[in-house]
Amino acid sequence: MRLQNVRVVLVETQLAANIGSAARAMKTMGLAELHLVAPRQWPHDDAVARATGAADLLQRAHVHADLDSALSGVGLVVGLSARQRHLSCPADFPRPTAGVIAAESDRQPVALLFGRERTGLTNEELDRCHRLVHIPTDPAFSSLNLAAAVQVMCYELRWHLVAGEPAPQCAEVSPPAATADEMEHFFEHLEKVLMRIDFLREENPRALMRRLRVFYNRARPDRNEMQILRGILTHVELGLDGRLGRRRS
Ligand code: SAH
Repeated sequence: MRLQNVRVVLVETQLAANIGSAARAMKTMGLAELHLVAPRQWPHDDAVARATGAADLLQRAHVHADLDSALSGVGLVVGLSARQRHLSCPADFPRPTAGVIAAESDRQPVALLFGRERTGLTNEELDRCHRLVHIPTDPAFSSLNLAAAVQVMCYELRWHLVAGEPAPQCAEVSPPAATADEMEHFFEHLEKVLMRIDFLREENPRALMRRLRVFYNRARPDRNEMQILRGILTHVELGLDGRLGRRRS
């Protein structure tokens, strides 16, 4: 995937605010190539306000008089449409299409085409597309805000790029899990203490101890957590022996 080969083409966008939001959506996902076809409000403060940290994309945006110019040199044209059925070609979902875009963008520029807020893309514009994408929505209300649609498609490209990478980990490296013998010592200790506080009766300690085993094994405590658990048990014993006060002083 070469994201610098993927351009977002906004066709005759009516509101500059939407262009700003779209730029922000793109930049969060690592896309930078913004192409505007005959924008109604341009340049405009609303765009800058909505772009926040992505104003650089607006400054570098390519403004075209017509679609031909925006698609010049493009090898794959992908149209985004809020409508599910088209004459031109069947619409697919964003995720599988992201895979196609990933492969194509390694070789040639790819354009993602987004339509006007009110009327979307015209049939002529849809006919220019090699593929159509429909973001699955409630059929009774299928039209996303323009920038939201840009966000979803760009997110899918990002997802494709990072797929297979490990998800972000905790900042702290967690200690290794308690070993099997540490677990055994803990269960012996626990049983002893539960007997001493009369929670576990001699007659049938097995069933409860098994349930506790299942519970603690499921939690899979790490070494630090095991030390805490053992520490609690030791303190209970010290308390029972009346040695806590002395120990503290
Ligand atoms: N009323 C218009 C919707 C325009 S929304 C129509 O019926 O087409 C503006 C643009 O956002 C659309 O042209 C399309 O590019 C994109 N978009 C909005 N909702 C979408 C969806 N569910 N799937 C794909 N693209 C969508």
